[in-house]
Amino acid sequence: MTNTERIGKLKKVHMLGAEDLGALLTTLSDGEEQALCDAACEVRREVYGRDVYLRGLIEFSSYCRNNCLYCGLRRGNAACQRYRLSEEEILECADRGYELGFRTIVLQSGEDPWYTDEKICRIVSRIKEKHPDSAVTLSIGEKSRESYQRYFDAGADRYLLRHETINAEHYSRLHPEEMSRDNRVRCLYDLKEIGYQVGCGIMVGSPFQTTEHIVEDLLFMKEFGPQMVGIGPFIPHQDTPFKDEKRGTLEDTLHLLAIVRLMLPRVLLPATTALGTIHPRGRELGILAGANVVMPNLSPSDVREKYMLYDGKICTGDEAAECRRCMERRIESTGYRVVVSRGDFRG
Ligand code: SAH
Ligand code: SF4
Repeated sequence: MTNTERIGKLKKVHMLGAEDLGALLTTLSDGEEQALCDAACEVRREVYGRDVYLRGLIEFSSYCRNNCLYCGLRRGNAACQRYRLSEEEILECADRGYELGFRTIVLQSGEDPWYTDEKICRIVSRIKEKHPDSAVTLSIGEKSRESYQRYFDAGADRYLLRHETINAEHYSRLHPEEMSRDNRVRCLYDLKEIGYQVGCGIMVGSPFQTTEHIVEDLLFMKEFGPQMVGIGPFIPHQDTPFKDEKRGTLEDTLHLLAIVRLMLPRVLLPATTALGTIHPRGRELGILAGANVVMPNLSPSDVREKYMLYDGKICTGDEAAECRRCMERRIESTGYRVVVSRGDFRG
């Protein structure tokens, strides 16, 4: 098959064999790259039109009990500035988000046991009580099935938990021994069975990643059937063991976004902050490669610099309202439009 035929087939049947996926990830000419992105946009337009959904992100704690080798929040990083937002502060951010038109609030943090299940449930249910027309997304890491069930019963709608890599050996090179690919996958299936809209995903260009790994990830995503997929480039953080590793590239990230869109036409796919960090128009280019979600930051300005997953993270100085306006301008410059709605998965 030629690349043109591969793109045509992927667009039509939303699936390709491993070898053909590998070829699409590695052998595209400039013209073929454009054809891939155009195909992804066409498929996305059939489901979501020109709409791009906004999610308001609240990064509520930089404490983490885990020690993922790639992440600036890892517990072994003594230079990380730690903070926790109080329940009231989180609710204020959510209210502010609501006023600015956000109808999805994403609560993200390191794995911080200070926020007990009881606290998380209270925060979720208070946001939902006040704003019943909003969705609440959690991104707070690996928990027991019972905990996931409790958050869901409290009103949480969605959960983001990137699997990071489906290859167990690769997983073990990115994480300390006490973490495992199997537990990560267990979490994802628990979340799905409970009834969440679930997001998995990977970093592009993480250390030791091969094209074969990415192909395995794509096949896993196809099988798992997530409602959301989070994909951004790996970016080294100066205070981690991976400080001298190379970052993932813009091109590789865009190819992968487009392929994910073609394999999972209905998926909610963010153009991530990491993508905006490696290129000034990274998020716009992400939209043009098939992404349809952006997640402006709602965290208070004084804590933003402390939530440093990787070096150079953008949008650490702005006010929430400024982020909202900036994002709107950026999306409109691509010919798409920001919509104010929950933006649920269209199954
Ligand atoms: N603690 C939660 C949520 C916060 S981390 C969790 O781990 O799920 C959210 C995501 O940030 C991770 O899934 C990872 O893919 C990404 N991330 C962490 N360090 C990164 C880095 N150095 N470069 C790019 N993305 C990174
Ligand atoms: Fe903690 Fe998440 Fe960072 Fe891992 S990726 S160290 S779990 S914040």
